Amino acid sequence: MKNKTKPSHWICSTHKSHIFTTPTHDFFCDQCPPYTGVLIESYPGDKEPEPQPENSIQNAEVTKTGVGLYIFLVDSSASMFDGNAFPNVRQSRAEIVSAQIAGAIFQMSAISRKDDAYLFVLLFDHKLKPFINFMTLQQVFDKYSTAEDLQAALYREMQGMNGATDINLALKTAYHHTQKFVNGEMESIGSIKPMFQTIYNPITLKDITIPNVRCLILTDGEQYTAANGINRIEENPFERFEFEGRYVNILMGAYNGSGNDGGCQELKAIMSKCPIHNEPQFFLFDNAHKIGDMYKLFRMASGPSGFCPKCLENLVIRDKTSKS
Ligand SMILES: [Zn+2]
Ligand SMILES: [Zn+2]
Repeated sequence: MKNKTKPSHWICSTHKSHIFTTPTHDFFCDQCPPYTGVLIESYPGDKEPEPQPENSIQNAEVTKTGVGLYIFLVDSSASMFDGNAFPNVRQSRAEIVSAQIAGAIFQMSAISRKDDAYLFVLLFDHKLKPFINFMTLQQVFDKYSTAEDLQAALYREMQGMNGATDINLALKTAYHHTQKFVNGEMESIGSIKPMFQTIYNPITLKDITIPNVRCLILTDGEQYTAANGINRIEENPFERFEFEGRYVNILMGAYNGSGNDGGCQELKAIMSKCPIHNEPQFFLFDNAHKIGDMYKLFRMASGPSGFCPKCLENLVIRDKTSKS
């Protein structure tokens, strides 16, 4: 059993020679270019991946297969704490979102291969801060004993952000790390091969191969960065996400607010379409009746099961006794 209480050190995801006994203030490596190295927690007794000799083709290293990665990009800007999430709901958006993410993660306690599912929960305002930094599900459950513990810790970290909204920075950074992870280029994790599914695309009449990797961005606002003057979402960098020589867009967007908001239109406009249903990979939460759907979406995003609202309709939440 690992020491649950405290990581002994932190290792940069990009260069495993960047080791920290105390993490940086934002859990990104300050020896790497900005936001390119995530500090990954390491506990006493953790096995570290072997260093990969240059020019070697995975000879010494064992490739970890059947891996999944589930990413949540969580808007933690000031507006997430303003007022009520929905009319007639007393909680703030930050309270609801933190509880739903924690609940969805703990629902995964039923799955059998907890060392093969990785989580990256990245908080953003006009800055970034990883909350769960490429931990496996097992490590998350070792660290937090209940969903309530996890929710409280997540909410506290969100409160520490509370600034403006830089969606471009969040997307760009998430894409960078996702591609590196899938390519097996994260030194601190090592060589991996994602589990994947083959889905028949009724539009192109071809099969497509999709890795068990999903990224969900949840926001309630518009791009706002006074610093560089860019006040629109520039692009969807996941259009360049490559798996097995093909582009697969694994980004889903969720907007918490009115469908008429500028931010909602902007986010929806950059989303790709579901390969199964040809619907935008986009979800709108504009009233309290959709709180249940929010939970289902977070659950869906932490598994390989879908992309769009139609996929969500077909989603069956398994109970804790089932295995996957
Ligand atoms: Zn580094
Ligand atoms: Zn769909």
